[in-house]
Amino acid sequence: MPQLPPKKRISLIFFVLSLCSLAGAFSCYSLARELILCSAQTQLLGFSRESILKRDGFEDSALQALSAMHHSALPHCSPQDLDALRELVFKSGILHDAGWFEGKQIRCSSLIANNINKSINLQFIAKPQNEIAYYRSYDHFSIAQKPTVIVRMGDAYVNIGILGREFSGPSWVQYFGAISDIRGYANTPDFYSGPPAPHAAWIYTSPGTYHLNGHLYATACSTRNRICRTSSVPVNFILRSERVFIRTGIVLGGVLGALFASAILQFYFSRQTLESQLGRAIRKKQLYLQYQPIVRIADRRMVGAEALCRWKKEDGVPVPPQKFIAIAEEKNWIGSLTKLVFSKALEECRAILLTHPDFCLSLNLSVLCLDDRKLLCDLQQMIADCGVKPSSVAIEITESIAAHDPQRIAQIQTLRQAGHPIHLDDFGTGYSSLSYLHELNLDAIKIDKAFMQTIGTDAVQFNILPQILTMSQKLQLNVIIEGIETSEQEAYLSRISSSLLGQGWLYGHPVDQEQLHAMQASQPQPEQKPL
Ligand code: C2E
Ligand code: MG
Ligand code: MG
Repeated sequence: MPQLPPKKRISLIFFVLSLCSLAGAFSCYSLARELILCSAQTQLLGFSRESILKRDGFEDSALQALSAMHHSALPHCSPQDLDALRELVFKSGILHDAGWFEGKQIRCSSLIANNINKSINLQFIAKPQNEIAYYRSYDHFSIAQKPTVIVRMGDAYVNIGILGREFSGPSWVQYFGAISDIRGYANTPDFYSGPPAPHAAWIYTSPGTYHLNGHLYATACSTRNRICRTSSVPVNFILRSERVFIRTGIVLGGVLGALFASAILQFYFSRQTLESQLGRAIRKKQLYLQYQPIVRIADRRMVGAEALCRWKKEDGVPVPPQKFIAIAEEKNWIGSLTKLVFSKALEECRAILLTHPDFCLSLNLSVLCLDDRKLLCDLQQMIADCGVKPSSVAIEITESIAAHDPQRIAQIQTLRQAGHPIHLDDFGTGYSSLSYLHELNLDAIKIDKAFMQTIGTDAVQFNILPQILTMSQKLQLNVIIEGIETSEQEAYLSRISSSLLGQGWLYGHPVDQEQLHAMQASQPQPEQKPL
């Protein structure tokens, strides 16, 4: 694959870096914003809850005082009564005044006694319970020119102080009061001034937190009546006050995005170089082979070898075959790679194959190669050109879901009819089905090395091994066990069957052609059984 020209490379780097930085900055901005608003809402709810508790406390004091006034036997507004009222106010610590109504007007009060010479301006607020009414009082009973709240029960009343004094939150929080449907309305510093927001009147009487029309709201309601308190603040105000945190979030997000982008780019370019290096290596035929002996377990006699492809990058670092085979499959180079492997293996093993007709060379064939008829013909032609019998070249097909395709199965049969032994590689690695063995006419199954690792354990794979062997015997299939590393594994296998073939480090690591020839030459010469 050609590498990107430098200009395009720079544009790509710039594009990916900018995109990821922007995405990172935006994500962190959104996260920081959400965190800030969430914490502000929790804070607001705290103010509202605290206020409603205080308000309930004021009401308790007011009701206690009013009840005491009603139980008093003193004539209303008499000098003794006024003294008693003053004592009541003094002792409560919360009340500012107490007195008596006469109809709609105040008749006397602990503050101004009977000297009421003009009508006092009272504005009805609400009647949260029967017998109890709330008024706001301007002028006469105002404190520091702020209206106060008067609670009336029958003809008795008490003044509980400035509207909204129960609110102890900061000055930048707007504070509202509402009584369910009545919705009295408060707004600092002029409490209960102005109408409720028409778009969201329900907010003031529904406990909870809300984010609406650029404002945060938190409402708490009394558990004993329909009175609620709401704290509110504009979102912009909160965000402005937390701008340092938000800016830090944006910068951090941008940096994280850039780091993520560089990781992606590094992966992309390293893969690109890996791909282009593999493409060059295949074109220049720089891949090489190693061979791993396949033995009869009973007497450790070598009956064949598997050719395993090897590749080192231009810096000399080897790449695992699974990795470069996968790239070759993805880039559609697997045909060229397979031809290269076949031609090298035939060239390097021709002498052994011609002189030892029972020696079987195993070559791996990717299932994707089964889709390319021309390739299969070319491979067969190569074998014929060397004078090697097809029966001396076994084809290993990896068991995979892809191999279940009927057209691919037909191609496998064509190869078998041409005389090649067909070995099902890595049997038991995920797509195993014993019924699949009936579908294919095979010569051998290669049981994956994972099975060997389970010997002596309770793993399912270990327990089904004897069943696989019985089934293979019935189907007259040879069995090659992969990954035999220890003599304990070998002893176990010898006990369960005498006809097994094996491959693994116990019998030999993959070696180069010279070592394979040497191993073959050192074999004793008794009668040989075919694979
Ligand atoms: P495979 O065909 O199943 O090859 C056997 C793998 O098991 C080889 O790994 C071999 O080195 C390893 N092995 C052998 N004995 C032992 C053992 O005792 N213990 C352990 N742990 N491993 C053992 P390798 O060479 O890394 O090959 C990996 C896979 O790459 C092969 O698995 C095969 O699927 C694929 N491959 C290799 N060469 C080719 C090729 O020319 N064409 C195709 N299509 N695939 C190939
Ligand atoms: Mg194999
Ligand atoms: Mg295998």
